[in-house]
Amino acid sequence: MFNKILIANRGEIALRIIRTCKEMGIKTVAIYSKADAESLHVRFADEAVCIGPPASSESYLNIPRIMAAMEITNADAIHPGYGFLAENARFAEICNQSGVKFIGPTAEMINKMGDKVTAKETMVKAGVPVVPGSDGLLKDVKQGIKIANQIGYPVILKATAGGGGKGMRIVTKDEEFEDAWDSARKEAKASFSNDGIYVEKYVEEPRHIEFQIIGDQYGNVIHLSERDCSIQRRHQKLVEESPSPFMTPELREKMGDAAVKAGKSINYEGVGTIEFLVDKHRNFYFMEMNTRIQVEHPVTEEVIDHDLIKEQIKVAAGIPISGKNYYPTMHAMECRINAEDVFNGFRPNPGKITSFHSAKGHGVRVDTHVYAGYTVPPFYDSMIAKLICKAQTREDCIKKMQRALDEFVIEGIKTTIPFHKALMKNEKFRSGDFNTGFMNTFNIEDCVE
Ligand code: ADP
Repeated sequence: MFNKILIANRGEIALRIIRTCKEMGIKTVAIYSKADAESLHVRFADEAVCIGPPASSESYLNIPRIMAAMEITNADAIHPGYGFLAENARFAEICNQSGVKFIGPTAEMINKMGDKVTAKETMVKAGVPVVPGSDGLLKDVKQGIKIANQIGYPVILKATAGGGGKGMRIVTKDEEFEDAWDSARKEAKASFSNDGIYVEKYVEEPRHIEFQIIGDQYGNVIHLSERDCSIQRRHQKLVEESPSPFMTPELREKMGDAAVKAGKSINYEGVGTIEFLVDKHRNFYFMEMNTRIQVEHPVTEEVIDHDLIKEQIKVAAGIPISGKNYYPTMHAMECRINAEDVFNGFRPNPGKITSFHSAKGHGVRVDTHVYAGYTVPPFYDSMIAKLICKAQTREDCIKKMQRALDEFVIEGIKTTIPFHKALMKNEKFRSGDFNTGFMNTFNIEDCVE
């Protein structure tokens, strides 16, 4: 087992990883930018190294500075968390070449799944259903329009390097194609310095259902069932739950098999997520794979009662997995609490938290790095806490979430709590009858400040 793990990340996920390391008797090193000196991940790690100014490019994305922190602290493994360098094949390679274990898949596996076009090709070879679309990247508008007519409108243009919902445009007719192409390319170039675009059929009224998988170093891959992430705004997840209200035992078997097949096709090592779109007829299509721990992993932890970070560290240390799939025995739901102003187009609202009272009680979990007196910096993602509830049934889980949201107090900055309160009351949401288009019909005026 590892002696000391450096956590190449910040915020709640860094703290989350530190907690598991402590339970496993592993020492921890936090790295932080000047903007994060007051964050709890810095306080709770055994050692902490300031690696630079607030800008991510000079701190959490700066590989030489992170490697220097490794060297001076003598850590023997790196946990990348999610975001930042978590899916950077070069970083994984540099770690392994320096004799430091990157807790995650190899650079080769990240490369196979990291760009979406290659991932789709890999899945087609493995016999996993994918969304119909172009074979690889589009050369120009003319070719794009031709393929769009073959698969039929509406279609969606997507950035091969995409993430966080960026570089995507829906196109409903020939005349719209060129403008969508230009703006998708521009956005992809600015966000990922890669303007490769492909096109696929726009699946109408789909559910976003993803499968958690885990693979070890001996070729074993299992799945840990699904999470439904259909409640999204601008392709970004707001709420996740497991099991999916749309799931049937037969569909879970089929999708679970496909997810395991996907993992096995690249001998996947580590925790990963296979994302699918599911249409109203319960046809499912592979969309992409995330080769890292995800924000919403606690939902799975709660329904199968296992610590996924612990499993991830064990696999990285060469310990084999059990070999059987895991199924939910409870219902769990996660609300992402962001420092955003719901009444102003979800605009980020960083600043000083003047008072903070976390929800508590049976079946309630809060993962956060903030506290009263903490200032949310403007430089990073706006998520400040994850509120996770679990109960025997979905109905009870929603009731518990309502109770927890009511007692959660965050003052000084605006948060997405008013949105979550309104969502829990929404009839469509309560009945489980929703898809990724849910937010287009949601009335923001249902939120109460
Ligand atoms: P990102 O990596 O940017 O998050 P994804 O490929 O995971 O991008 O897609 C994010 C969301 O975009 C999906 O959850 C879904 O709501 C929507 N989406 C992506 N592809 C399609 C498609 N072919 N049809 C319909 N919706 C799609």
